Amino acid sequence: MTYADVIIDISLEKLDKTFQYLIPRELEKTVGLGTQVVIPFGKGERRIKGYVVELSEEPKIDSSRIKPICGVAKDSLPIESQLIALAGWMKRNYGSTMNQALKTVLPIKKKESIKEKKTVHLILSPEQAKVEFTNLVARKRHSVAKERLLEALMENPEIPWEEITGRLHIPSTVIRDFEKDGWVKITAHRAYRNPIRLEEGECRDIILNEEQQQVVDTVLSDWKQGRQETYLLYGVTGSGKTQVYMELIAKCLEQGRSAIVLIPEIALTYQTVMRFYGRFGSKVSIINSRMTPGERFDQFERAKNGDIQIMVGPRSALFTPFSNLGIIIIDEEHETSYKSETVPKYHARETAIARAAMNHATVVLGSATPSVESFARAKSGEYRMLTLTKRVEEKPLPECEIVDLRQELRMGNRSILSNRLVELMEERLAKGEQTMLFINRRGLMGFVSCRACGHVIKCPHCDVSLSLHRGNKMQCHYCGYEMEQPKVCPDCGSKYIGGFKAGTQKFEEVVKQRFPRARVLRMDMDTTRGKHGHQEILEAFSNEEADILIGTQMIVKGHDFPKVTLVGVLAADMSLNSSDFHSGERTFQLLTQAAGRAGRGSVPGQVVIQTYQPQHYSIVAASKQAYEDFFDREIVYRRMMGYPPAAHMLVIQINGPVEERAQRQAERIAELLHKTDPDALCMGPSDATIARVNDVYKKIIYIKDKDYEHLVKLKDAVEAYILEENDWKDVSVWFDFDPISGF
Ligand code: ADP
Ligand code: ZN
Ligand code: ZN
Repeated sequence: MTYADVIIDISLEKLDKTFQYLIPRELEKTVGLGTQVVIPFGKGERRIKGYVVELSEEPKIDSSRIKPICGVAKDSLPIESQLIALAGWMKRNYGSTMNQALKTVLPIKKKESIKEKKTVHLILSPEQAKVEFTNLVARKRHSVAKERLLEALMENPEIPWEEITGRLHIPSTVIRDFEKDGWVKITAHRAYRNPIRLEEGECRDIILNEEQQQVVDTVLSDWKQGRQETYLLYGVTGSGKTQVYMELIAKCLEQGRSAIVLIPEIALTYQTVMRFYGRFGSKVSIINSRMTPGERFDQFERAKNGDIQIMVGPRSALFTPFSNLGIIIIDEEHETSYKSETVPKYHARETAIARAAMNHATVVLGSATPSVESFARAKSGEYRMLTLTKRVEEKPLPECEIVDLRQELRMGNRSILSNRLVELMEERLAKGEQTMLFINRRGLMGFVSCRACGHVIKCPHCDVSLSLHRGNKMQCHYCGYEMEQPKVCPDCGSKYIGGFKAGTQKFEEVVKQRFPRARVLRMDMDTTRGKHGHQEILEAFSNEEADILIGTQMIVKGHDFPKVTLVGVLAADMSLNSSDFHSGERTFQLLTQAAGRAGRGSVPGQVVIQTYQPQHYSIVAASKQAYEDFFDREIVYRRMMGYPPAAHMLVIQINGPVEERAQRQAERIAELLHKTDPDALCMGPSDATIARVNDVYKKIIYIKDKDYEHLVKLKDAVEAYILEENDWKDVSVWFDFDPISGF
């Protein structure tokens, strides 16, 4: 590479302002992405520092006008260098522009974000002050405000600015006048907003149990030998994973290094934050999506200045600018929220591993139901497996029953509530205990199934459900295969075949009709619109203002309701039949989590899983809370079909407002891929699951390959092709490596 694009100021508004410089021969080896360089700038060729954000062979202007870089900045490696290098890694591995990657990684800088706290100090001696005060009062047109301010300062020579203008009602011009007269001095210091408005919690001394201690010792002994690895902490719910994280963090802090703890937003509750705060006090800060950009920026600044050592937050907390990072923890590592939905579509797991490698830091992934990807890697030795098998408090697992909805139909019950579930709900109402009914929103994209036998219409090529489109057309979103919706079930001949669609609202009506005297709460996207809607409903349920809570995914995660002794899953198949190869995994995870909601208190819980596919391994394994049973079956399916983690997958999405154009350009990309590599396993183009959003048509091409690098090369080829031609203005192209949801 011969040329480097340099940014002078790391602030989001200025990211687009890059300046190109020549990399002199002797610096070719030392200048890379993120390197802080010294450059001649402006008319006077003033020497200033900047960061390299892009490397290229092509000059953007007449090459004779491009000045050479003077040298590499000598001081220690700033954190910005590292984050820019990480952005470069993300751009390469996930497909995006450098600008998009930088915007993801660098904190948003906003001037108004930093609140200045000013203090007014009296610098006159008490004697001088007395004299001036007498002079003020003696003046003909004397100013009451001036008198009052001087009087106040004589009593207390240091007063916060806000108190003077606020409580004392003295205009700020008076303070400025005093400053001009040399009576007072004004000092300012930055005040960062602290998001944790809590008293420091008391720290309950917890002694690790044997298993926990063993896990911690394994990691510590690796550290002693200078090994920094990626660990999968596979531990059943309640086995004390958080306690292990905190112990490892404490050890890191002892070494003067800091820690990042990623927790899915939905589980980032008051209790979770309090556990960290209780142990580490003001060394901890948090970020979350409800904060303003300014508030988040403040927390990043505190991290950079060394005011805090631990950052707790969702995916984006991964980019906390700690310069001495020692450990990254990803709790509930299987959660889909760890993958970005916008370009660059990075996964926090792999990005954390990349960042850790730059810092010689450790990554700990924790889960009771690990992603199939991580568990496979841990089994193969790519990650180190650490296990916790015992629950700290030996609470029994809830009792779980599977109800066959086909059987219900045969017995003449066409309601979505099975007789068994109704019976158990009646029991709870009589005893004054609570019930949670869970309906899966995922997979509501109409698949077609038979209510008599449970048969689902699938693609003969891809083994994912076909989805229903208008005009009774069914299509596979992986390969484009199409067929008419059948009138009778191809398996059993029943006419009860059709698109399966139902919402929470409908269920609420059914439940209210069946239990007219029960108090019912519903929680879904509609009822939680407001900023606190979510919290209000959960609180009401927690305060036992309702007997039954109906909801989507939102109700199964992170909340403890001791009075809930029954959990009903209304149609477990919903997620099983979404047109996504992860559907088995998502179903297993959701069912295990839903089941985990029952019996948190002293009364043991019961779970009813209603389904049309009672033999499906995801459902059977979830009912027994048997993760490894599930994994063993699922990995066979992934291997057979060549889906991740058996291979890697690159999805290319082509978006445009005119369908024919999007289709045409998608076909051109497919041709290019075939030309670049005739052996590539390339499918499509076909319509995306949601084929049109906001009048933008979405076409999909996907490629499977065992070698990730090979997919990166194909992505690079597509990027280069698009840059070369200039008829791509009305079409955008997105890349998604190893997707984790339907596309
Ligand atoms: P997980 O994160 O695996 O679900 P937690 O770390 O939340 O588990 O632990 C579950 C409960 O057990 C928490 O209330 C925690 O305070 C408690 N706990 C964890 N480890 C111990 C221990 N060694 N001794 C006593 N209580 C513990
Ligand atoms: Zn197909
Ligand atoms: Zn059938």
